[in-house]
Amino acid sequence: MTAVSEESALFEDCLQAVCESLQANEAELSALDRAIGDGDHGANLGRAARALLEARAELAAMPLSQALERAGMLVVTSVGGASGPLYGSMLMALGRSWPERPTPVAIASALEQAVQAVCKRGRSTMGEKTMLDVLMPAAQAFRESAGTKALDDAMQSMLGAADAGFAATRPLRATKGRAAYVGERAIGHYDPGAASARLCLHAVAGVLTRKSQQQERVS
Ligand code: ADP
Ligand code: MG
Repeated sequence: MTAVSEESALFEDCLQAVCESLQANEAELSALDRAIGDGDHGANLGRAARALLEARAELAAMPLSQALERAGMLVVTSVGGASGPLYGSMLMALGRSWPERPTPVAIASALEQAVQAVCKRGRSTMGEKTMLDVLMPAAQAFRESAGTKALDDAMQSMLGAADAGFAATRPLRATKGRAAYVGERAIGHYDPGAASARLCLHAVAGVLTRKSQQQERVS
């Protein structure tokens, strides 16, 4: 396989894994959103997953940076809730900043720019009980280990930070999004967007880790 078609095949596998994970966890994500919001987070992301899976072949035929941007647009147009524009901006920014030579360090920088796009779009940052409580520490952990560790280890650090960030949303009050309206009542519940962000990162890292283990067995 050429490097470009290998990149497309990996993208397609990641897309499939993310969409399947979101669909499998639709009920769970909506249950989290029922506790502190309006109960539609699972359905919102389920719609995004269906739109992405329908466009899978079209996306896989594009250069990766374009495919990411197009995927972001599909998420924005298929999801009505707050999470659509936020995840959509993230994917579009990831596409715009995707490096020509995707080394771990260059990917880390693209990921940070993508997370910054969510901060900008949501006028939000860490500690506000949102998806950023997972995305920001995960991107930071990946960047910190990308320069010194093997890709698999950098992904493990990223997942550790994502899990901790998700857990940390539970005792927080929300200051952004619908959950901000329920005030104290949000305390003791996990944030649904933090849950979906964690699922997406686990799905992508699962595909990439399996791939690198296969390569090790072959070489
Ligand atoms: P809605 O709140 O419109 O019903 P969803 O239920 O799909 O949309 O998404 C809710 C999630 O979106 C929240 O759990 C939170 O993680 C995230 N979110 C909402 N507002 C913001 C914001 N301003 N910045 C970052 N994330 C946000
Ligand atoms: Mg909602």
